[in-house]
Amino acid sequence: MKIEIDNGSGFCHGVVTAIHKAEEELAKGGPLYCLGDIVHNNREVDRLCELGLITIDHEQFNQLHDAKVLLRAHGEPPSTYETARRNNIEIIDATCPVVLKLQQRINEAYNTKPDPEAQIVIFGKNGHAEVLGLVGQTQGKAIVIESLEEAKQLDMSKSIFLFSQTTKSLEEFRKIVEYIKQHISNGATFEYADTICRQVANRIPNIRKFAAAHDLVFFVSGKKSSNGRIFFHECQTVNPNTCFIDSAREIDWNLLKDVQSIGICGATSTPKWLMESIQKAIIDKLGDSEGR
Ligand code: SF4
Repeated sequence: MKIEIDNGSGFCHGVVTAIHKAEEELAKGGPLYCLGDIVHNNREVDRLCELGLITIDHEQFNQLHDAKVLLRAHGEPPSTYETARRNNIEIIDATCPVVLKLQQRINEAYNTKPDPEAQIVIFGKNGHAEVLGLVGQTQGKAIVIESLEEAKQLDMSKSIFLFSQTTKSLEEFRKIVEYIKQHISNGATFEYADTICRQVANRIPNIRKFAAAHDLVFFVSGKKSSNGRIFFHECQTVNPNTCFIDSAREIDWNLLKDVQSIGICGATSTPKWLMESIQKAIIDKLGDSEGR
């Protein structure tokens, strides 16, 4: 039996940097808060919690004073920085540079658009932390669309600036661009920026190849991970025998019957150690059943 971990899966640069910053700060001692889960993976959140990281939500953040708070890779809207200033909160800013650049571009588009009626549109998931940070650059005025179907509801008589959350599907984004190009009214303008992170988009061909090469695939991710859903869908398309799990506890051992090769892969928020622990659990289980 071959049990292989996908080399291309695991934390992206943004997440690696955020976790390093958290570990560095925790090593200095004193309480360190993190606004929201540092990564969409409960196992990694638990590991950092054991090192002393305290995860808080926005309500708790608003009540906090004279403390140190880490902002994760997803970024935050300007209002978070204002609260920090008011409450004497020291910010450890781990916003991913790719997200930061996108925030700046949206902010600039919103503040310099010559046509006050022009719409800033973000292709992203409503309520997702990164999207809240992006919408915050437009004083809450940006319109969020989640799909091509929602793009069809846009007012094509007004100019459109289109951006994308960094972890959305490039394929769907291109379809939206084509649709708007074809339907925008004469007199209105359409500008767009492909702001999808290549740490996600470039992994797709590799993960498809990896999933297709195994009899059974365990896709490991937190349930809240946006790119986790995209990668899982890609794996399932090429290999219907792909299972979504968040830890070894979720493995259905019956699936291991009659398979010769198992692949283990994951999202940009999936730690390598978690994929290794799943590989080990499978090896141990197989050893047990052979020994019986
Ligand atoms: S997926 Fe890309 S944009 Fe998002 S945190 Fe990772 S490197 Fe940054």
